[in-house]
Amino acid sequence: MIQISIKTSKEVQFIDITSEIERVVRESGVKEGAANIFTKHTTTAIIINENEPGLLKDYEKLVELVPKGRGYEHDRIDDNAHAHLRSILLGPNKVVPIIKGELALGTWQRIFLAEFDGPRVREVVVQVFHLF
Ligand code: ZN
Repeated sequence: MIQISIKTSKEVQFIDITSEIERVVRESGVKEGAANIFTKHTTTAIIINENEPGLLKDYEKLVELVPKGRGYEHDRIDDNAHAHLRSILLGPNKVVPIIKGELALGTWQRIFLAEFDGPRVREVVVQVFHLF
């Protein structure tokens, strides 16, 4: 198990962490298996998609499907219910196959930490499993 610290710099942000995950996989020596990439926070998510500047802005539009300040109960104590709800929709983890010692991502697929309540320091756990 490896834990990666990521410092976010905006309230809503999508950070490409693919190269960090690739390094963990390489150092594990696993040739066939899977990597579980898991964020330990209730206001972040792990997503897989393309790292294209226009699309990065579009991801922000996607999360606006859960708008701020809609009379959420949790806002009475923490004012960030929207961030929790966005996290629930996108999920805390993704599992990626490892083939021939590499993440078996498609050409345009990248792994992102999605921040919904930044800036903060976030912890992402990576577990590499060997397939027998
Ligand atoms: Zn909260």
